[in-house]
Amino acid sequence: MDVEEVFPGVFEMRTTYGRDTAGLFTEGAFPHAVWFVAGPTPALLDPGPTVVAEETLEELHKMGYDPNDIEYVVPSHIHVDHGGGCGWLVKELPKAKAVIHSQGAPFMLDVSRLIAGTAAVFGDEWEDIFGDLSPVPAERLLTVEDGSTLELGCKTHRIVFMPGHSLDHIGVYDETNQALYCGHGLGNYKPERFMPDPPMTLPYFDVEASLASIRRARDLAPRYLLPVHSGFLASNPGFAIDAVERVTIAIGDIVKAGMESGATPEAIEDDVRTYMFANPAKADRSYMPVVRSYMAYYERLQRRSSGA
Ligand SMILES: [Zn+2]
Ligand SMILES: [Zn+2]
Repeated sequence: MDVEEVFPGVFEMRTTYGRDTAGLFTEGAFPHAVWFVAGPTPALLDPGPTVVAEETLEELHKMGYDPNDIEYVVPSHIHVDHGGGCGWLVKELPKAKAVIHSQGAPFMLDVSRLIAGTAAVFGDEWEDIFGDLSPVPAERLLTVEDGSTLELGCKTHRIVFMPGHSLDHIGVYDETNQALYCGHGLGNYKPERFMPDPPMTLPYFDVEASLASIRRARDLAPRYLLPVHSGFLASNPGFAIDAVERVTIAIGDIVKAGMESGATPEAIEDDVRTYMFANPAKADRSYMPVVRSYMAYYERLQRRSSGA
């Protein structure tokens, strides 16, 4: 595990767990960044799935910290690659509470729907990929809303509701460092690329909610962004926020136009690649998951407006 102190007492712990859940990479293991905030109320932000959580606790020991002191584990959202380790962590750590937005809390108290959804996407081998997925007991779950504040480490952090990628997605804003742990709320980043992907996901990507969340992040005017997985600290957050807003709108326009003209998903994907790369042959992976997540959103809107 590769560990870097990004702010005094804040450690970015970069792990790999071998499965590219967001379809971002064509080869190699997918990185996941966990943040450990040290201090009187130590916390883990975006603890990841259980396989990552196990590795994180071992690493904390090596760093000279006692994981038993951890008070909070704060996933950005309930998807298994972010919050999947919460049940295991609160069992392991005597004091820890899982911090979950009210929209996500029912899914953590009873993980059966989360298990079914995970199995639908990853098949029977999901548990080999992510590890144990167990519920968080009610007395170990702290439900938060937009504007809730928490002392993490020794500093005030504010919960910023940023739905769109999922119904329950939150950002965590460190008011002292003016740093926003933005989860997938500001898209998916590949470190060597300027252009982020939209905050897409299957099956319930909400384009309008994502754009509203992106604009909320802009209003905060953070000095630093800490997006998940890629473990990347942007020193120019305004640029990143503008870029993800632009790409989220532009791909939406491409997919909408394609759907209206009766184009196949493959043809729409070609147009998306051309937008991202100018020369679509240079695209390093399929944009089909992006296209499918937008199509699912627009199809839902159509069904809703036709009253079906
Ligand atoms: Zn997710
Ligand atoms: Zn993710």
